[in-house]
Amino acid sequence: MADGPYDVVIVGGGHNGLTCGAYLAKAGRRVLVLEARDVVGGGCATKEVAAPGFRHNFHSNFHGIIHMGPVYRDLELERYGARYVWPENQFAHVFPDGRGLVCSRNLERTVENVARFSKRDAETFREVAHTYREVLEEGMVPAMFSAPAPPSHDLADLEGSAEGLSLIRQFLTTPNHLARELFETPEVQTWIGFWVAQLAGTGDVFGLGANYPIMVAGSLEPYGWAICQGGSNRLAQAIAAFLLDHGGEIRVGAPVARIEVDGDGARSVKLETGETITVDGILVSNLDPRHTFLELVGEENLDDTLARACGRWRYDVMSMFCVYLALEAPVRWRAAEWEPAVQRCFAVSICESLDVLDDNASDCRLGVPPRQPGLFTVHPSLFEPSLCPPGTEACFVEQIAPYELRQGGHEAWDHIKEEYAETVLARWRPYLTGGLEEKAIVGRYLSSPIDIERVMPSMKHGDWNHGEMSQDQLGIFRPFAEYPPYRTAFPNVYLCGASTHPGGSIGGACGYNAATAIAEDLGIEPWWNPAATSSRVTSKDG
Ligand SMILES: Cc1cc2nc3c(=O)[nH]c(=O)nc-3n(C[C@H](O)[C@H](O)[C@H](O)COP(=O)(O)OP(=O)(O)OC[C@H]3O[C@@H](n4cnc5c(N)ncnc54)[C@H](O)[C@@H]3O)c2cc1C
Repeated sequence: MADGPYDVVIVGGGHNGLTCGAYLAKAGRRVLVLEARDVVGGGCATKEVAAPGFRHNFHSNFHGIIHMGPVYRDLELERYGARYVWPENQFAHVFPDGRGLVCSRNLERTVENVARFSKRDAETFREVAHTYREVLEEGMVPAMFSAPAPPSHDLADLEGSAEGLSLIRQFLTTPNHLARELFETPEVQTWIGFWVAQLAGTGDVFGLGANYPIMVAGSLEPYGWAICQGGSNRLAQAIAAFLLDHGGEIRVGAPVARIEVDGDGARSVKLETGETITVDGILVSNLDPRHTFLELVGEENLDDTLARACGRWRYDVMSMFCVYLALEAPVRWRAAEWEPAVQRCFAVSICESLDVLDDNASDCRLGVPPRQPGLFTVHPSLFEPSLCPPGTEACFVEQIAPYELRQGGHEAWDHIKEEYAETVLARWRPYLTGGLEEKAIVGRYLSSPIDIERVMPSMKHGDWNHGEMSQDQLGIFRPFAEYPPYRTAFPNVYLCGASTHPGGSIGGACGYNAATAIAEDLGIEPWWNPAATSSRVTSKDG
């Protein structure tokens, strides 16, 4: 038996589970976090996978939301070891004709870059950047770091004016439609549409137009997507250090096999080793509702309402296929001859047009690996040299891919992934003058959708958001509206992971909001200020 008793037992030590535990530990509760893997952090993962001496953040690299909300400041994460670099050039898109378009954190520099393609698009970009910054700061960040409200509530303020209604319409459309509507040149449309699609994986889903403010304004000063120095796992280690410092306990290598319930709620958890840990107070799950209730509690122990709500939870059809590379030297972009800044960008994407991106999504729905994959190449070691030996590069390329293959189901990925990696690299090479020749590749590590699920047991179906991010699974519907946000049918069981509002990504919002909900229920006077939002701190610019 573990030490105890515990007021709070948390299943899953992803950054959201840790965040929730950290707030409650400082509030004086005895917290135990049980993590299945041998390291905490979930999607904040850094490991040597491709070759000795090369470390990859094999899940999250872009840490933006964590700096927009209160978690980073409240949990004193710099003091506990997290440090960040903000690359000046956030993302670029390169085109078959050798040109490239770069988004700098500096708005006016980006406007100049867009003007090389179209003066009108440059003016439009400046205009929407200002509008989206206002929306982000006044609407979206406060909404992310608080419990979700009914759908009409968030939009009510916008309904009174033509401008507001126009924004609502933008939010309701698809990212690709909005790119085509706002900008006149196909290159600018593709540049922005492809980037916005990265948040949810695809650009053709209605309702994801709402991702523009965070992806556009969120890439510009004073915001931006940042790299955790020493690797993304450092962020999780910093949250864990805060939790431990405030009396919490963490057990790694402790996969929960069963959550035992009776009529009043969760009573204990059973680990895969057979060990039982008593739940004296509450249980909080960092896992999605299907995983938590259908698998770990067992459908036979659920009432009809909860069983139905869990049963309808959908994982995204689209997961990711990733090739992690250890390279002798940084890749050299052909487009850098036309736009030198391409050579020093956090991310560089490749996709001929938004039509190709649409085709990629259609292929996924057909259960076919995209035949002409749009590639998102990521270059963290340019800005965080500790990830690889001097002069080399640790980069990776990711793209959407279906979990279930029409031919052979998900297990067929094991048979086709090597060959498909060649398709990906062959798509990339024509955009380079060098760096990706066979002899320049020191090592590689492939991760298909089924590998994501194998490595990260919380990402069922390879779904990094723990459930599709679509209008019927967002806001108050994430994961279900049958119970108040973060609560469930069991009075002492809560959810705190990416399957709750506001969803996936590294921001700590789900864990933070869950802690606030739990504090309300347990009569804990929060030491934090649930109304406060921004915690932007200064770290290095890259
Ligand atoms: C390839 C890839 C790239 C990504 N890139 C980015 C990015 O650049 N920026 C970004 O913001 N987000 C990114 N994400 C998404 C991000 O990683 C997730 O949305 C985020 O990690 C969710 O956090 P979480 O704490 O809710 O859950 P998780 O990170 O999934 O953590 C849940 C934890 O629960 C543990 N667990 C599972 N089962 C059990 C069990 N039975 N018992 C005990 N513990 C268990 C898991 O091991 C895991 O540690 C990416 C994801 C992937 C896969």
